[in-house]
Amino acid sequence: MSVQANIDLQAFNTLATPSRAQWYAPLREAKDFAAAWQFARQHQEPLLVLGGGSNVVLGERLPGLVLHQLCQGREILLEDESSVTVAVAGGENWHQFVHWSISQGWAGLENLALIPGSVGAAPIQNIGAYGAEVGGFIERVLARDLNTGEGLQLSRDECAFGYRDSVFKRDLSDQLLIETVVFKLPRQAEPDVSYPALAAYCAEHGLVSPTPLDVFNAVLAIRTSKLPDPARVPNVGSFFKNPQLTEAELEALLIKFPQLPHYARAAGASVPAAWLIEACGFKTLQSEPVRVHGRHALVVINPDKQSATTVRRFAARIQSAVAERFGILLEQEPRNYG
Ligand SMILES: Cc1cc2nc3c(=O)[nH]c(=O)nc-3n(C[C@H](O)[C@H](O)[C@H](O)COP(=O)(O)OP(=O)(O)OC[C@H]3O[C@@H](n4cnc5c(N)ncnc54)[C@H](O)[C@@H]3O)c2cc1C
Repeated sequence: MSVQANIDLQAFNTLATPSRAQWYAPLREAKDFAAAWQFARQHQEPLLVLGGGSNVVLGERLPGLVLHQLCQGREILLEDESSVTVAVAGGENWHQFVHWSISQGWAGLENLALIPGSVGAAPIQNIGAYGAEVGGFIERVLARDLNTGEGLQLSRDECAFGYRDSVFKRDLSDQLLIETVVFKLPRQAEPDVSYPALAAYCAEHGLVSPTPLDVFNAVLAIRTSKLPDPARVPNVGSFFKNPQLTEAELEALLIKFPQLPHYARAAGASVPAAWLIEACGFKTLQSEPVRVHGRHALVVINPDKQSATTVRRFAARIQSAVAERFGILLEQEPRNYG
């Protein structure tokens, strides 16, 4: 591995913003981290970890050294009648790992099929879709401390998973390189198809007791029909989190906006950010260079590969419009760098 200077990252981020890394190191083997870390230390450069680039907004110039996590490998650590424990390298492609786990006959990850990005990034925002979240299947995370270069382990509890959230976005934000994620997957589990879009698909296709493979295929079909393929239309999936409201906040809003959709959560309720954005008229603004997707108002698209500045300006317009109309501040999901 050699550290390279002034590397173009436009092809390494799915929003396709023009971006150059001052320094760049592809990590293909475990030993590559030590060499890159030494380089950063010698040159006193900050470190930034990049996976599949599907949840970042990259500015034109990224100072410091970008560590591109590309390490591959899967190892079964433990198998018994009810579960399997498998360690997966952080640079593995998430969807390929899910596909492999389902084809082994294991259950659990079927609802999370086709989420772009790497295994190492999955714990960062506790990726979730169709009523499931990855955190429940993670046993532990093996990482490197970017400050000291030392290895450490975090148990599931220490990861403090929440809705699109974890300790990696809070106390340990940008402090670690996740090298390996250890999953504990059930051998048999009834898939959860309670999420409305999934339930509707199963009903429509006569899937009465769907297997994990049926659900995996259903999720592929639904996602492909709804979400733009970032390889063709640059995007980072949902650009904002769904706001989480207390019951009192929800009740106050429902007085003004009785048609506001809402879903009960453990504490309070969640409202769909897509609905709020659409209600502010953003779906009709289809001639803007950066805009929301015509079928999904939560997905900001960047077809002309505009800069991060243009994307951020458009996102700020959405935030102000939603704040003004509904009094809700939408929280951006992808991380800003540079
Ligand atoms: C079309 C589309 C659909 C999507 N759908 C969903 C969805 O349904 N649910 C969902 O939760 N997300 C979704 N996403 C967002 C994205 O796919 C996930 O957040 C994914 O986990 C990001 O992985 P990545 O490897 O691309 O991370 P990157 O974008 O490279 O990085 C994201 C963050 O994680 C950090 N990071 C990445 N790898 C590591 C590592 N090994 N160690 C430490 N830090 C790391 C980065 O520094 C950065 O802060 C979608 C994105 C797209 C484009």
